[in-house]
Amino acid sequence: MSDLYPTIGLEIHAELLTKSKVFCTCSAEFGGEPNSRCCPVCSGMPGTLPVLNHTAVEYIIRAGYVTNYFYPDLPKAYQISQMPRPVCLNGYVDINVGGTEKRIRVNRIHLEEDAGKLVHDEATRSSLADYNRCGIPLIEMVTEPDFHSAEEVIAYVEKIKLLYKYAGICDCKMEQGSLRCDVNISLAPKDAKELGTRAELKNLNSTKAIARAIEYEIYRQTEIIESGQKVLQETRRFSDTTGETTALRSKEDAHDYRYFPDPDIPPIIFTEEELAAIKDALPEMPQQRKERYISQYGMNETDADNIINDKDICDFFEDAIKAYDKPKTVANFILGEFMRRINLGEMSMDSLKFTPKDLARLIELGDTDKINKNNYKTIFVEMINTGRTPDAVCDELDLWVKDDTSAVEAVIDKLIADNPKPVEQYRAGEQKVFGFFMGQANKALKGQATPNTIKAILEQKLKG
Ligand SMILES: [Zn+2]
Repeated sequence: MSDLYPTIGLEIHAELLTKSKVFCTCSAEFGGEPNSRCCPVCSGMPGTLPVLNHTAVEYIIRAGYVTNYFYPDLPKAYQISQMPRPVCLNGYVDINVGGTEKRIRVNRIHLEEDAGKLVHDEATRSSLADYNRCGIPLIEMVTEPDFHSAEEVIAYVEKIKLLYKYAGICDCKMEQGSLRCDVNISLAPKDAKELGTRAELKNLNSTKAIARAIEYEIYRQTEIIESGQKVLQETRRFSDTTGETTALRSKEDAHDYRYFPDPDIPPIIFTEEELAAIKDALPEMPQQRKERYISQYGMNETDADNIINDKDICDFFEDAIKAYDKPKTVANFILGEFMRRINLGEMSMDSLKFTPKDLARLIELGDTDKINKNNYKTIFVEMINTGRTPDAVCDELDLWVKDDTSAVEAVIDKLIADNPKPVEQYRAGEQKVFGFFMGQANKALKGQATPNTIKAILEQKLKG
């Protein structure tokens, strides 16, 4: 085995959730007919004047606050030119890998504009350009090379996705490209004073691709070094199909880019008051929500983590308890049946047919004995598939509790007549047989009586 040790740094590009682009009023929404969302400014026509989107700058400051940046020398830290002079410097993010906390240093976050997309058409041997994405505000976050495994990188990416989503600055849809990662990786003996030569892996668009690309690159560089050759400094592309990385171009150093300030964009200066206002307006972050769930709602730490770890589910929970103020009961349903159906692929948060209010209503109906909780699953599956309200489902499938005692009595009389042996056992003191009768009665009554009613009548009849 080799004693080569991987060192990994990360760049995360996140498209900001502003309504318009960074220097013009074109829509920054995802998709659209090619070139339907561009104008002379974002397509770079001569003579146009960029006007900086103030929200984009506020969002990058939010990104700074949620990744623990300090602002020691305020005003002069806020110059932005087309040369990315970073808005935020020297932050950190704590990650947890296999129960161990680790601090990842963040070098900087800066604002830039996204580029358009090229579509290459083999048939006509031409390339078509779509400028819709041109000029969408993009923040780039660069970490220090603090990672030493794919697991650490993935834990970090997941944490950033969570923080950016809660901060409301990016939807973090990797499959749509609104969050993309570049990974640079080098190998060196563990006690080496200098890092090895790094390769940069461009535009990884899923956590799975990140893990596979890192694993492959560790393998590739190990082979090169152990055969006595040198790793080249280059940019590489990862293929989902082959699971391998291939060279894209040899890497330029930063000075090759020849940055210079854009005279059309003056330095942006925020006062301390403005910064404080942005900080105060930050939405509630996952850690705060978690603490609130534990202290106010009495949730345990694991449950609280499981709810906050998906912002869409967490927001759904928040809306549901607005409609039915029983946080613990609603949380239990979401942590159980709700997440189970998501994990089974039977529903997804992107295309839910029912509302938080509908779910709240279902739980309330069970709590108030209007329906039997044994019917939760049946009703919930209907809500998932058809989007009908729980009330509509109960009407249609005749699931309302009627508590018609004569119907309950008839069912129990028949059960007792059909099962002389268990009756005998119960009367001889075998309490556990009671559960058998409860189950059978529930099944026969299809949830139209509450367990309390069934229990009372059953107890009385079994006594004989
Ligand atoms: Zn435009």
